[in-house]
Amino acid sequence: MGFVAAVVFAVCCWFSHGVAGQEEPIQTFVIPHSHMDVGWVYTIQESMHAYAANVYSSVTEELSKVKERRFIAVEQEFFRLWWDTVASDTQKKQVRQLIKEGRLEFIIGGQVMHDEAVTDLDDDILQMMEGHGFLYETFGVRPQFSWHVDPFGASATTPVLFALAGFNAHLISRIDYDLKDIMQKNKKLQFVWRGSPSLKSQQEIFTHTMDQFSYCTPSYLPFSNCSGFYWNGVALFPDPPKDGVYPNMSLPVTKETVHAYAKTMVENIKQRAAWFRTNHVLWPWGCDKQFYNSSVQFNNMDPLMKYINQNSKEFGVTVQYATLSEYFQTIYQSNLTWEVRGSEDFLPYSTEPYQAWTGFYASRNVLKGVARQASSRLYAAETLFTRYRISFPDGPVAKDWALDKLRALRWAVSEVQHHDGITGTESPKVADMYLQHLLQAMMGAEELLAALFLLPHNLQSPSILGEPDIEQTLEQHVIVYNPLAWNITTIVNVTVTQPSAAVFDDDGQPVPAQIQGSAHSNATYDLFIVVELGGLQYRKYLIKFPENSKAYEAKAVSFERRSVKDRAKAGRLLLPVLSECYELLFDQDTNLLHSITYLEEKRRVMITQDFWEYDANGDVKAGPISDNYIFSANGSAVRAYKAVEMEIIPGKIVTEIRHHIYFGYIFYYAYSITTRVPECFGTKLPCHRLEQTYSLGPLSLNTEVVLRTSTSVKNNRTLYSDDNGYQMMKRTYRKFTNNTLARNYFPMVRTAYIEDDLSRLVLVSDRAHGVSSQTDGQLEVMLHRRLWNNLQWNLGYNLTLNDSSVVRPTLWMMLGSVSATSKLYQREAVQLQHRPVVMPIDQPQKPWQVKEPKRGSPLRSVVLPPNLHLLSLSIPGWNYCSNHSVHLNLHSQPDYDRILLRIMHLFEEGEDPELSKPVTINLKEALQGMGEVKGVEERSLTGTWDIASLQRWKWKTADNLEKDNKQQRRQDDDFTVTISPKEIRTFFVHFVSRNF
Ligand SMILES: [Zn+2]
Repeated sequence: MGFVAAVVFAVCCWFSHGVAGQEEPIQTFVIPHSHMDVGWVYTIQESMHAYAANVYSSVTEELSKVKERRFIAVEQEFFRLWWDTVASDTQKKQVRQLIKEGRLEFIIGGQVMHDEAVTDLDDDILQMMEGHGFLYETFGVRPQFSWHVDPFGASATTPVLFALAGFNAHLISRIDYDLKDIMQKNKKLQFVWRGSPSLKSQQEIFTHTMDQFSYCTPSYLPFSNCSGFYWNGVALFPDPPKDGVYPNMSLPVTKETVHAYAKTMVENIKQRAAWFRTNHVLWPWGCDKQFYNSSVQFNNMDPLMKYINQNSKEFGVTVQYATLSEYFQTIYQSNLTWEVRGSEDFLPYSTEPYQAWTGFYASRNVLKGVARQASSRLYAAETLFTRYRISFPDGPVAKDWALDKLRALRWAVSEVQHHDGITGTESPKVADMYLQHLLQAMMGAEELLAALFLLPHNLQSPSILGEPDIEQTLEQHVIVYNPLAWNITTIVNVTVTQPSAAVFDDDGQPVPAQIQGSAHSNATYDLFIVVELGGLQYRKYLIKFPENSKAYEAKAVSFERRSVKDRAKAGRLLLPVLSECYELLFDQDTNLLHSITYLEEKRRVMITQDFWEYDANGDVKAGPISDNYIFSANGSAVRAYKAVEMEIIPGKIVTEIRHHIYFGYIFYYAYSITTRVPECFGTKLPCHRLEQTYSLGPLSLNTEVVLRTSTSVKNNRTLYSDDNGYQMMKRTYRKFTNNTLARNYFPMVRTAYIEDDLSRLVLVSDRAHGVSSQTDGQLEVMLHRRLWNNLQWNLGYNLTLNDSSVVRPTLWMMLGSVSATSKLYQREAVQLQHRPVVMPIDQPQKPWQVKEPKRGSPLRSVVLPPNLHLLSLSIPGWNYCSNHSVHLNLHSQPDYDRILLRIMHLFEEGEDPELSKPVTINLKEALQGMGEVKGVEERSLTGTWDIASLQRWKWKTADNLEKDNKQQRRQDDDFTVTISPKEIRTFFVHFVSRNF
């Protein structure tokens, strides 16, 4: 989205004093670009039709005509759609030539310009890799600069990922208006960013912050009613105009107007030059949906630039078309020493005193949830297909078919990371488009998983044994797959239709299980099964539905509804629920949680949880409004309910506590909390995880609901929340002149916690939310918003967020000492993201007459040390050669034998005495469960660089650190790799072929 910001920037036109007196003219880099949102208001199809295809067709033509012209291409999804479905052979030839000459430049190179606040690093990497793989195999190019001009705030993880991908400079724009103002005045918009406190200078990157004009060309012209420099006007939907005349086309550059245009442009350039340390100005020429008619753009700009250059002495300015790399090259060559910024991010983000962009952290909870589920399903399918392919290269699951399914899901998950996608800041029809693409591709991945689980792995005929059907019981089979490279013991929940059951593993041994009425339906039952699985292993479980169940049948105990009016007596009757880790006490006078004692240290923390609501204003005349982007509370939150009911279902595997929350004394409840406490006495089940699922909605209009966890932890309103699931950020409560409440909201992607010297309360999440600590000891999570407002701009684009869905997010809660929870939360967050895949493979039926063949040896497990996470294991299917000098001698077929392996160290330096240590592993040994490794090549984050040949620019910094900008060390020949805290290392792995 662009024009919101552009409108604000109309205040301009004062002459800079800093530049006067300089002899050299200011060198201006006019960078033609089109900001093409992959979604937002219009669907991708609508955008392609109305303008996006024309951008690339007309830019190709216009650049080919005049050699000085340049263009930067950003969002790969549109470019690829154009390349694959629109571009003619001639256009393709021209594009290759333009790329070769450095006149058409790919920037970022991801499928989209990803959001930075609510995306997970898995998906940020994926969407970038998806685009980079295409660019490299199609053109042999590797983007080296970012252009993050529109994401709403800037995360400290992004510069780290870009550095790991081999980028030489990063560019951001949307940061707090008041901070940007100070940075401009002090010429501090450019710095070297060390985004990770553990990786430090190793992955630092030069960062350019755009000035207050951001990425759109200033539109104010003192001599014309039309906006300036937008000669092709504004894109028209649904169809481009037949006569080529678009609305709001700028006044043409003619003999009469050229001087006035030149004067306006030069004034703006001089104003901007005063904010930077060098004599170079980056002058972005473009905005949202521009250059669909490049001929009129360039035919006006060419003579204007010529005129300025002819009079450069008088103007004190020269202008030239440039790509982003030409600009950064020049800054780099200035050889200045830059200030260092540490690992703090630029979140949250405000554009004005009452415009805190903290609402989108929680907008469209359903889309945020589905996007993460899809990502997790993709991860499971990728890892399982990789294992299959290594073990059974000639197996019956067709590799091309499998890769098609995976690619569809990679594409869908990439697309929704767009900064108007997963953010929830799109129109309803675009949200539906993302959901449809995700759900359809997830179904494809389910098909693939089913095939991988069920088809015999080799073509030997199985020995078949008949078995009489003696028992009159029904049976059902379920496959459970652990997609993580750690051994796990956990509880999975299978929904069944019978009230009693018994469960057996694939060796016929009974498995601990528990069955009870479902929390969400009267017609179904929750069957909890304790599963024990090795890393990357799956097992089949048999569920029998006998009269006399072997699974423990848990029964509910109900507690009378309690009104908030009768709270005075609270604290008299406390009901304990005990596990190996905790004693939870529930107050029978309120029916709410009262306290939790963590037994390891016998320390009790008062904790209560309930729902509160912010009332949002929807009338622009009455004050600031809340919308898809912005959170603007109309006062403090109020308690969202009148009464609470509680049910406790004590179990042998899990004890479930159900809270039903009522608005009044009516029959149905609006909100609920289901808390599961694992009862894991004497088993390997982890007991520290309290699993909570909430149900909320549909909300009434202009309501924003938070889950408030109020505790006796003395956190002084400081909380910690993560940047993209990669690293934790300390969020100190800040007071502002205006809007303090909304500006103290932060994104939580996977994790948030509060702590004092003794205790820490951690929440990990299955989707992004907004979090805040408005009062000492409180951690509130914004779970859902439903809004409407009468701002014309919002109404015009249908961006009022009238989201009437019911949402069911999950959080896992942990409590303990700071040191105990430090060991846990990173792994818990990963485990919540990648829960076991549970796939029922048949309906309950009479036992099979034909017994399946006894399985051969089960899949061998693949296990990494506890502080290393298998970030990716996949077969990308690229056809390029990993040797850059010969890479364009393409194979015609995707390479199915190149496995991409990515390993991440989960801990920060010094976070834990043991787990924060660097870890040395032998990849051949670590992966032997999959097959015999014959070769390993270390690569850049997105795979396109051989790490040994990657030399990033070394920017000078004040602290003059000895810099080893050579990327990470190559592994030794013996396959040994040392992975340091927070490192992410990427490899191509080749296995010995079993294809004989
Ligand atoms: Zn945008």
